[in-house]
Amino acid sequence: MNRKGILIVVSGFSGAGKGTLMKKLVQEYDNYALSVSATTRAPRAGEEDGREYFFVTKEAFERKIAEGGLIEYACYCGNYYGTPRDYVEKQLEAGRDVILEIEIQGALKIRKQFSSALLLFVMPPDAQELKRRLTGRGTETAEVIERRMARAVEESEGIEEYDYIVVNDDLESCVKQLHEIIAAAHNTPFRNEEFIEKIRGELSVLAKGEK
Ligand code: ADP
Ligand code: 5GP
Repeated sequence: MNRKGILIVVSGFSGAGKGTLMKKLVQEYDNYALSVSATTRAPRAGEEDGREYFFVTKEAFERKIAEGGLIEYACYCGNYYGTPRDYVEKQLEAGRDVILEIEIQGALKIRKQFSSALLLFVMPPDAQELKRRLTGRGTETAEVIERRMARAVEESEGIEEYDYIVVNDDLESCVKQLHEIIAAAHNTPFRNEEFIEKIRGELSVLAKGEK
């Protein structure tokens, strides 16, 4: 069976655990390619240019937009974030499942461009735990945390646009569940149209021959 790569969008409120989950998913399974976004936000302690993000100036980001170098971009809490086109297209052609860890405006733009994209939304077990994780990460000021919690309220209105919600309570079970959902998505008829057509062709030839 000809296995094509799927474009997988993973969204979720800030602090839900997307970054942690994606790191584990690519460590534990082979076929995933994690796209590295460009952003105008400042690096957090421990983040490296080209690993977590490509950290760029506003001018460089706007140049990328003008050149058509991003498949989507959005403004989130005062900064630009966008997905570089080249990497995604190359990895999909090579048959790999490409993961975009992006927020909801970007997710909806991807859905419009790639009808077979799979949209997953990572949820915390409850809102208190979300705030605990976001604060416990220790990377944002109280003011930024407040803005991100307010943005979570807005984002929660769009969850129905996604194909699946996944609750990140126990990390390992959540990674496993994400992998299983993606594996099942590969077996939907609309992602296997060529294979189905091939079998139909073979069947009709065989059926005629055996009359
Ligand atoms: P996001 O990328 O969604 O903003 P992170 O991956 O940075 O979130 O996770 C936010 C914080 O929550 C981090 O400190 C991380 O270690 C912690 N965390 C992530 N998943 C879990 C989990 N299942 N249980 C407890 N803590 C978690
Ligand atoms: P953070 O600053 O916490 O790394 O990311 C903030 C938000 O931006 C998260 O919801 C994250 O998923 C989103 N994000 C990261 N990269 C991209 C991107 O390339 N495009 C869009 N639309 N959102 C992104």
